[in-house]
Amino acid sequence: MKAYRIASIPGDGIGAEVVDAGVEVLQALAGREQFTISFDRFDWGGEYYKKHGRMMPEDGREQIRKHDAILFGSAGHPDIPDHITLWGLRLAICQPFDQYANVRPTRILPGITSPLRHVSGPELDWVIVRENSEGEYSGVGGRVHQGLPIEAATDVSMMTRAGVTRIMRFAFKLAQSRPRKLLTVVTKSNAQRYAMVMWDEVAAEVATEFPDVTWDKAIVDAMTMRMTLKPETIDTVVATNLHADILSDLAAALAGSLGIAPTANLNPEREFPSMFEPIHGSAFDIMGKGIANPIGTFWSAVLMLDHLGEQPAAARLMRAIERVTADPSLHTPDLGGKATTRQVTDAVITAILADN
Ligand code: ATP
Ligand code: MG
Repeated sequence: MKAYRIASIPGDGIGAEVVDAGVEVLQALAGREQFTISFDRFDWGGEYYKKHGRMMPEDGREQIRKHDAILFGSAGHPDIPDHITLWGLRLAICQPFDQYANVRPTRILPGITSPLRHVSGPELDWVIVRENSEGEYSGVGGRVHQGLPIEAATDVSMMTRAGVTRIMRFAFKLAQSRPRKLLTVVTKSNAQRYAMVMWDEVAAEVATEFPDVTWDKAIVDAMTMRMTLKPETIDTVVATNLHADILSDLAAALAGSLGIAPTANLNPEREFPSMFEPIHGSAFDIMGKGIANPIGTFWSAVLMLDHLGEQPAAARLMRAIERVTADPSLHTPDLGGKATTRQVTDAVITAILADN
């Protein structure tokens, strides 16, 4: 019997509530599968920072390096600047573990209504691939002459040919594995004349390796329009770190709620553990109220199982999630309902046990 060891990092705000729920659900699921799953919990994040002056221990990455995967909650604390929480924990794991492919499936689950009145389930079924290692978030830049009238600052969007090539290959391969074999490459090369032009060039080069994939290019601003007005023309999308960050929040909202959307931060070569997390943040406004929607974390667990090669278990968990979302009495307040995190979690576990 396979035995998986997962590092759980609940982080801040509602992170702990949804990750604890995710752990419970995964344990219930393992009871029905041919594998065991155990969790080591790492209480890193904002509270850790207040005590130790850093978001995670210096040897934190060493502590989780040997785990099969990481289940992450969220990093963000009202008392600590966002760039510290983000760079001190999430990016401190993603970047050294070379989780360069951030994958964000978006679908309208059964029972959930999109704010787009003209759109029904089958017309919105996307996977957004976000370049997760460089580009606008490469950390290159600086500030000079602080406090003087001539003060200036830069954030350099640095893209490497190798980095763009590997994310394009990943996206084309993913598009090829989906029934429509359709990829949209998001760009801004009409206005940005260096990195974005190389991005386009590499896309065209990699496309020749995938003759069965149909692909097109979309300027990022036009893409927001297309996502809202013609969602059925989209299937797999690849975009830069910043563009995909923004587009995937839009995608999550169009699919019903930020509380549902999952993310996989993949190191496709499996040299390091990959990390799975809901796309929402710490949401301190609802922390401790027991109403956080755990579906984004459960769906992230589906992506984790898929990555671990446990496709039947992943499918079983997805069926359980869909059975629960289909019942409006099990919707949390972000979906317009009254259900609690506890009720949704119990219902998903019941659906797992009832699944045959
Ligand atoms: P961070 O700074 O960590 O990004 P945030 O305060 O910006 O956190 P988000 O989590 O990004 O908050 O979400 C914005 C709002 O969406 C929250 O204030 C919350 O009301 C709602 N929300 C987010 N996630 C959930 C969830 N899982 N369940 C219910 N509501 C949610
Ligand atoms: Mg936020």
